Amino acid sequence: MDATTAASSALEVLSRTFGFPNFRGAQEQIIGHVAGGGDALVLMPTGGGKSLCYQIPALLRDGTGIVVSPLIALMQDQVQALRQLGLRAAFLNSTLALDEQRQVEQRLLAGELDLLYVAPERLLTERFLSLLDQAQIALFAIDEAHCVSQWGHDFRPEYVQLNILHERWPTVPRIALTATADSPTRNEIVTRLDLGRAEQFVSSFDRPNIRYRIVEKQNPRQQLLRFLREEHPNDAGIVYCLSRRRTEETADFLAANGFPALPYHAGLSSEVRRAHQAEFLNGEGVIICATIAFGMGIDKPDVRFVAHLDLPKSIEAYYQETGRAGRDGLPADAWLTYGLNDVVTLRRLIEDSEADERFKRVELHKLNALLGLCETTRCRRQVLLDYFGETGTDACGNCDTCLTPVECYDGTVVAQKALSCIYRTEQRFGAGYLVNVLLGKADARIRRFGHDRVSTFGIGTELSAEQWKSVYRQLVAAGLIKVDVEGHGGLQLNWERCRPILRGEQRIDLRRDPDRKHNRGERREP
Ligand code: ADP
Ligand code: ZN
Repeated sequence: MDATTAASSALEVLSRTFGFPNFRGAQEQIIGHVAGGGDALVLMPTGGGKSLCYQIPALLRDGTGIVVSPLIALMQDQVQALRQLGLRAAFLNSTLALDEQRQVEQRLLAGELDLLYVAPERLLTERFLSLLDQAQIALFAIDEAHCVSQWGHDFRPEYVQLNILHERWPTVPRIALTATADSPTRNEIVTRLDLGRAEQFVSSFDRPNIRYRIVEKQNPRQQLLRFLREEHPNDAGIVYCLSRRRTEETADFLAANGFPALPYHAGLSSEVRRAHQAEFLNGEGVIICATIAFGMGIDKPDVRFVAHLDLPKSIEAYYQETGRAGRDGLPADAWLTYGLNDVVTLRRLIEDSEADERFKRVELHKLNALLGLCETTRCRRQVLLDYFGETGTDACGNCDTCLTPVECYDGTVVAQKALSCIYRTEQRFGAGYLVNVLLGKADARIRRFGHDRVSTFGIGTELSAEQWKSVYRQLVAAGLIKVDVEGHGGLQLNWERCRPILRGEQRIDLRRDPDRKHNRGERREP
């Protein structure tokens, strides 16, 4: 079928079968392209409407659309929804009994399926591949295509072998879809899945109604409480924490302060998790305090805020998690508290993991990119979108750095003092200790180590303790300081980067953290 006929029938299928009057964003072009036999790589944020991009072409073309999907639960939901629309859909995965599997296979061979969802490991069996040889295939859809990337944290080894589809059925169109792909990931998808000639459809990742705000961590629970009281007294939202225990403590704390808050993490029984999830979906203004175990497949449009009490592990994770706010398009907040201890904790988690060195390097690199976002003086949204390859956007006017522009100052001398202090105390201590030395506060520990006698003792009285902590955070984010996670999280100099600053050959600008009292900004319609 040529692209024009495909387009007009696509609209018909959209309204007749799915009951929607118009396409969204690039759906129409994508569907026309794939229905016409072209390969496509689709980057679209979660909730953007990726499924129709392969479902409609599968209906328009002869034969069965084969959908590769790694998530068994989502597979079942999709198939159920399609059946309710009257479509002939089925899935094949390990949850089916043998006779059910044979039945599905028979329907495939008989041409009685519009769409067949398969797990990648199933698809790749010789049995299934030879079955496909006897079937008529409308297209291959590769969902969650970023799973092919070792760069990403969802890496699935089977995905790498999916280029076999192209080799074995070169004329069947393929459409790869993902919601998470920075440019290295995108390149990897193209190479590994042999999509060099595929057309790329990249939607904007911008979520203009979400207001991004990142504040320094002081007393996180009290900060959270104030944020909720002042801005979201009756709203539903999600509070993300790093540990299971912290989700429970936070939920208890909020409940004690009059907020309907419930914990959610993988350590709770499935009944409790289901009950809390249902409460969140159906109740009024319920707050879920969750680890990242919460969120996959949650489709609640009126989540008014997503708060992070701990640093997420990457910009992708931050984007995914905050992206659960404001699906209805109305104003929503993404609020995060962050401090240097988070960096130490996350670095240690990465270092201590079982992963290989290459993977750890990637994870550290991602964490650093996130620190860059936290410490940026630019528009946060611009930094986010840049990261996803969307460059050249304007400052948004709806993030903290836009609403309260960050003041910068020549921080060369301050940085020299901060770095020297690390050196003079032998690169073994964390920021709290270093700040006390700079401020000349000789506590017992400092006296014990004799650091009340080093040349940097008491040379930093021009800044407050909070300001010095901010300086250290910025220097870590800028890569001048490393965190020693094998030891006790002490700060160490990255000599190559520090030398020109210590020698006065290079100037460094630092941000002056805005006064917290004026750091709220007026709410504006997006
Ligand atoms: P994604 O896979 O990109 O996260 P989905 O395909 O699940 O997104 O679509 C998200 C929601 O948007 C679904 O409820 C879907 O029915 C709806 N949707 C998709 N396309 C359209 C459209 N053209 N018009 C109206 N609703 C749509
Ligand atoms: Zn902005």
